[in-house]
Amino acid sequence: MHKLWSLLCRNVIYTYNKKNIQTFYSAAYNASPYRDLFSERKEPFGKMPKEGIQNIWENLPPATMESYLNTSWSCKKSEQTENKLDLATENILDEEGNPLVFQSVLKAREKISSQDIFSTDSCVLGDQEFLDDALKLAYGSEMYQRDHIAAIETVGGTGALRIAFEFISRCFISLDGQKPRVYVPNLCWPNYKEIIKSTGLKMRDYRSYRKNIQGIDLKSCLSDLFRATKGSVALLEASGQNPTGTDFSPEQWKEISQILKDRKYLCVVDMAYQGLVHGDLDRDALALRRLVEDGHQVIVCQSLSKSFSLQGNPIGTLSVLTSSKEEKEKVWTHIRSLSHSMLSSVPNYGRLIVKTILSNEALKKEWMEETQNLVKRMKATRQALHDQLVSLNKSNGVDWSFLLQQQGMFLFTGLEAEQVDKLQKEYNIYLQPDGRLNLGALTASQVERVGTAIHKMTLTNSTNSEQVSTE
Ligand code: PLP
Repeated sequence: MHKLWSLLCRNVIYTYNKKNIQTFYSAAYNASPYRDLFSERKEPFGKMPKEGIQNIWENLPPATMESYLNTSWSCKKSEQTENKLDLATENILDEEGNPLVFQSVLKAREKISSQDIFSTDSCVLGDQEFLDDALKLAYGSEMYQRDHIAAIETVGGTGALRIAFEFISRCFISLDGQKPRVYVPNLCWPNYKEIIKSTGLKMRDYRSYRKNIQGIDLKSCLSDLFRATKGSVALLEASGQNPTGTDFSPEQWKEISQILKDRKYLCVVDMAYQGLVHGDLDRDALALRRLVEDGHQVIVCQSLSKSFSLQGNPIGTLSVLTSSKEEKEKVWTHIRSLSHSMLSSVPNYGRLIVKTILSNEALKKEWMEETQNLVKRMKATRQALHDQLVSLNKSNGVDWSFLLQQQGMFLFTGLEAEQVDKLQKEYNIYLQPDGRLNLGALTASQVERVGTAIHKMTLTNSTNSEQVSTE
């Protein structure tokens, strides 16, 4: 009898565990970034061959690489070594073509002891002083309410976005009771879609930029945002739109904020270029502060990697604005544990540099002047490239004035993918396939060559304003 009872119990436990294991694997499969890829191929998995243990990955298709990475990678790999120019990169370079390092960063480095670098104090729970300083930059000292903001340090803005969408996917539902759909700008940083896809959330474009008018399409944008299910998620870029270099004006933000409020959106604000658009930290944070002022409980993904030109030591923050201390504490446990499960801890170096600068008035002032100089440099490069194109274009009448309406690090040429490809093959100049060029990587001495090459490409703009579902 005892034996029979134990056998029965074991059977029940086995069946229960098997079910759990199956549920676990099917959830992991559904959340996999490669789910779409897998469903398209017949034998896409890595698997053990019938004989031996070699060639396990033979049938695994390559992952699609984010487009600018792919381009920068092809540029690096290209055997043609002379004159190749990677303007698809997202790094900022100095006039000699080396990574730009601010003097304020070098001075901050001297103040950091090796004890700080190897310290484990902030590894798990983060450094509140750093978070306060960094978040005051974003929200503004007056709007920053530490008691209501759940915040963690992240590995750059990418880390913040990844955790933010994972948090949303696990902990938020829209008003129809379903997982929320995420609305992203029709032309955006390609990695957004990769990040969101990897959390299993569905996406849809909202039309914010129209190629044939080379500018903001507010009407379509508002109408797309209006059509969404209440309680959806909107991904909004604070300033320095990547790739278009074209931001909403303060008046346009006012209208957008109203629609977002009416349709009860959860707003995720990506802030990757503060200080590098207008050379003014407050001006570049205007959109975020407007949303907070209008009562939105935003989620902010702040990258400090570009603002401090620390691309090799990415650093950022993720913050969730809540309405009470109790809410804040609950949210914090979720984002903190998600971050821990993904990366365990955030490296010290980027944080120490930023913290040292922001907590020292003289260094902060120097850093701000350096970002302003960088903005001036990029603006001058934009103007020079524009002038070069205008002077070459006298006979065929292309109007390049839209280039001067753009701001920040990115110049959106309007070239189509085939023209970008031709530019690469014939002139060894690499742009992102959507026609985006990084002004932070273009030096004054290269402007003439790039302008001449772009001029040679036939400029045939085509409208691409249909709303596209990316599910
Ligand atoms: N958001 C946008 C629009 C970006 O262009 C980037 C980086 O290029 C990021 C976020 C990510 O920033 P980070 O390099 O700190 O991960």
